Amino acid sequence: MPKCPKCKTEYVEVEVDFEYGDIILRNVKALKCPQCKDELFTPEQYRLIRERIRSVAQPLKLKRKISTAGNKPIVYLPEDVVKAINAKVGDAVDIYVEGNKIIIEKTA
Ligand SMILES: [Zn+2]
Repeated sequence: MPKCPKCKTEYVEVEVDFEYGDIILRNVKALKCPQCKDELFTPEQYRLIRERIRSVAQPLKLKRKISTAGNKPIVYLPEDVVKAINAKVGDAVDIYVEGNKIIIEKTA
């Protein structure tokens, strides 16, 4: 076990809640210093967190309200949704309607 740089005490493995945006992961393994209560994640623990986030966030479905900008309806796209289609601000997208769905597709 690695040691706490402050207390020189060995970290112990604990389970914590990990918050990531709207997602809360329960029973995430972390290391905790029994003295100063400092918490950290090993690279392996981080990898597992990222895996869990990916499985929870997929399919990406988030609620958004239609707002307005200059009297026109707009919907803010969550960063994760934009990233999920490998797009970025400035990229062109196609918007089309399918039944009661509005589809935003990265322009090929
Ligand atoms: Zn400590």
